[in-house]
Amino acid sequence: MMKITTDDVYTLKNGVEMPIIGLGVYKAEDGDQVKDAILAAIDAGYRHIDTASFYGNEKGVGEAIRASDVPRESLFITTKVWNDDLGYEETLKAFEISMDNLGLDYLDLYLIHWPIEGRYTEAWKAMEKLYSDGRVKAIGVSNFHRQHLEEVFSMCRVKPMVNQLEYHPHLAQKEMHEFCKMHDIQLEAWAPLKRGGLFEEPIIQALVEKHGKTPAQIILRWDIQNRVSTIPKSVTPSRIQENIDVFDFELSDADMKKIDSLDSNQRMGKNPDNFSFE
Ligand code: NAD
Repeated sequence: MMKITTDDVYTLKNGVEMPIIGLGVYKAEDGDQVKDAILAAIDAGYRHIDTASFYGNEKGVGEAIRASDVPRESLFITTKVWNDDLGYEETLKAFEISMDNLGLDYLDLYLIHWPIEGRYTEAWKAMEKLYSDGRVKAIGVSNFHRQHLEEVFSMCRVKPMVNQLEYHPHLAQKEMHEFCKMHDIQLEAWAPLKRGGLFEEPIIQALVEKHGKTPAQIILRWDIQNRVSTIPKSVTPSRIQENIDVFDFELSDADMKKIDSLDSNQRMGKNPDNFSFE
């Protein structure tokens, strides 16, 4: 296993570099809460922030970016187009609103948040336009399963570079990970910590003892050794620091297999094969 460091990145298929670990900000309140969390994260070495128009905190994300000493070009900022805004014109408009909220002149990664039937291919054309106009460095999707990606492949000029899925040891996404690798799509993990729902697992606890690391660190290390980008959420500075402090130990192949054995198709969120936001 090659040594992985804080500064390592994943290189997306178009050459754009994406930092391995990012800060997720779902449910971080707009204003000081999200701003302070991001400033703490940047201090701790994070260079990647994951928000969405749906989270209602893009303004606070923008304030943090401007308040930080780290130059804009050193940061990797993701936002997402929400379900109500899927469509060609609608997505272009939603992008401008997000960019106004963020106060940015370019974005690093724009994602389609959910594959709403009948609407995401038109939205994908808008993503391609934003990409070819240079407004966004990389484009991708979230919560897309094989059938959704195949529909995009059948009409696209540019294939998605990233797919952000619910991913943690209880939902290891083996098939989707293989499919994404085959198409050179970087997998990114949402709810990587299953919102705390994995910390008591005896297998995780045994690895905590073995490595002298916390449950969150064991799980996030499993992500990065699987070459998955991961975006744990916290607004607590000590946890933000803890979640990026995963570069000073290594899980053995046997440790990785033990964590793999927890895979049991358990989700926190909706199943992309069968979901509704009504
Ligand atoms: P998560 O698995 O990151 O869990 C977050 C929760 O875990 C926190 O609220 C906190 O209570 C706890 N936690 C974090 N670090 C901890 C630590 N070191 N020790 C103990 N507890 C700790 O869940 P999430 O926020 O749902 O997912 C992460 C990010 O993924 C989100 O913030 C968001 O950016 C993104 N996301 C995307 C989608 C999507 O549909 N694309 C859906 C959900 C989340």
